[in-house]
Amino acid sequence: MNKGGKNLNFYFMLIIALLLLTVWIGTIKTTDDSYTYGQMTQDLEDGDIVDVVLQPNAETPTGAVEITLKDGTDKVLYVTDIEEIKKVVKDAGFDPVVKDVPRESWFLSDVLPMLIILVVVVFFFVIMNAQNSGGGANSKMMNFGKSRAKLSMGDGKVTFKEVAGLKEEKEDLEEIVDFLKDPAKYTKVGARIPKGVLLEGSPGTGKTLLAKAIAGEANVPFFSISGSDFVEMFVGVGASRVRDLFAEAKKHNPCIIFIDEIDAVARKRGTGMGGGHDEREQTLNQLLVEMDGFGINEGIIVMAATNRVDILDPAILRPGRFDRKITVSRPDVGGREEILQVHAKNKPLGDDVDLKQIAQTTAGFTGADLENLLNEAAINSAKDNRVFISQSDIQKAFIKIGIGSEKRSRIISDKEKKITAYHEAGHAILFHVLPEVGPVYTVSIIPTGVGAAGYTMPLPEKDEMFMTRGRMLQDIMVSLGGRIAEELIFDDITTGASSDIKKATKEARKMVTRYGMSTNIGVVNYDDDDEEVFIGRDMAHPRSHSEAIAGDIDREVKNIVDDCYGKAKAIIEEHMQVLHDCAALLLEKEKINQAEFEALFEKEA
Ligand code: ADP
Ligand code: ZN
Repeated sequence: MNKGGKNLNFYFMLIIALLLLTVWIGTIKTTDDSYTYGQMTQDLEDGDIVDVVLQPNAETPTGAVEITLKDGTDKVLYVTDIEEIKKVVKDAGFDPVVKDVPRESWFLSDVLPMLIILVVVVFFFVIMNAQNSGGGANSKMMNFGKSRAKLSMGDGKVTFKEVAGLKEEKEDLEEIVDFLKDPAKYTKVGARIPKGVLLEGSPGTGKTLLAKAIAGEANVPFFSISGSDFVEMFVGVGASRVRDLFAEAKKHNPCIIFIDEIDAVARKRGTGMGGGHDEREQTLNQLLVEMDGFGINEGIIVMAATNRVDILDPAILRPGRFDRKITVSRPDVGGREEILQVHAKNKPLGDDVDLKQIAQTTAGFTGADLENLLNEAAINSAKDNRVFISQSDIQKAFIKIGIGSEKRSRIISDKEKKITAYHEAGHAILFHVLPEVGPVYTVSIIPTGVGAAGYTMPLPEKDEMFMTRGRMLQDIMVSLGGRIAEELIFDDITTGASSDIKKATKEARKMVTRYGMSTNIGVVNYDDDDEEVFIGRDMAHPRSHSEAIAGDIDREVKNIVDDCYGKAKAIIEEHMQVLHDCAALLLEKEKINQAEFEALFEKEA
């Protein structure tokens, strides 16, 4: 009741504001109308006028005469026959500027008031609607103005069948489906099911689709809202939307709440220029309160999607909140083929269309990109009045999309792919051979969307308290492996290894300046960095040691990197066969797992 009253007040004020605006616009054109025709002729005679502008009205021949007097004042005279005035003014020796018949005055006088009335009416309509549909759970799709969330259930159901590829992701989410189907089963044994699942991945990789499919599989309602809907101009609106959303969801449990673009609300608190963003922080706090507030097995699963986990407030990742993180990656060749099959289902394909081949040439494409590709192709075929899609339609679509989205998902040339394959193989071999790092879990040449052309991922290491000197040296060697492989295979080297080189250099510098691991420099801390990010720090911070020491440090860092480089190169040279085989396998499959990678070494032995 209370809340409803507050809302109504808000709308009431808005309407008043709009009415005031109308009145103001109405008055905007009124000017001093005490100036008369007689005065004008007098002023003309006296030579008091410096400028005359004639502004005809839409209803000719009426109009306004805008006069600038010698003393700088402007006068306006409204006349019934502008042509007559023109003559009079001309006779007095002026060449008046005659403006065009205005269009905007017609807009201001006729259309704008109507628009404003329309807006007011629509507003009333929306309010009434919001109040009427309050609890109508049986409406298939409804908007409740309060939380702005969309509720969908029943038809249009998405299931895991429509989600192609993403096999591991679906497996990970299977237990959530099971929980939503029968929460009691879990409650009885006291099992704790995650309250929140964070889906991380580039736009278009199918995060929303996955969340919807879970709701579809479990046959529960699906509330979706975007993080940016929470962030409003008015302080407090976001927080109250969160409250309303959870209240509504509780009425429909078990259910799924899906928050797209959660980074819009859940950015690290207290960051950003000019202090915190009050409204966003309030919204985030409310979200945390709600998530902590509902019981463990109330049957509500909050899913959220983002492509920027790094900027999220760590508080939302704590146990009892978004404690499950699932990375939704870009599809590999096989995944792309499956996605193409899903989306080609209701599109007749000509017999020259080879989905497998399309999958091979679209490395880096997301599910959304592929869907778009087929859609463009279908449009091309319709343009040609054909009832099926031909290979050339797809070719054309490919070029169109490829050029349009160069940045979003780079299309990779065969050469680039080959270089990346060798680069990653170089990292992988070192991970495998060096004892303190690795083993290799995945090697991939699927672009990640954050700028990396590929990645090599070791198995999550054991938690170790200390880094050893040996371990740090091996890390540096692994970082350099990509560049070394490129150098061994190709005549030229690329810029692709820049972040590797930066990482290696940083590590070496830390060894020297922070950990006292260099005998030449000694066990002294020369490290000014506190790792805290603080804008302006680098400029303002004085160095605590002499130029001479700085030179020694630089030399020592270079020695370490050079030494690692030599050793790493020797190791890769020893395993040239694996390097070639691994690159070839990567080019074929784009992503290889631990067993596949290790088999390459067995073959060599
Ligand atoms: P995200 O939420 O990650 O930005 P969406 O789930 O909204 O991406 O995906 C957009 C569209 O792309 C989907 O509606 C679907 O048509 C298509 N799509 C994405 N991934 C897949 C997939 N794995 N299988 C089938 N279609 C997909
Ligand atoms: Zn690399």
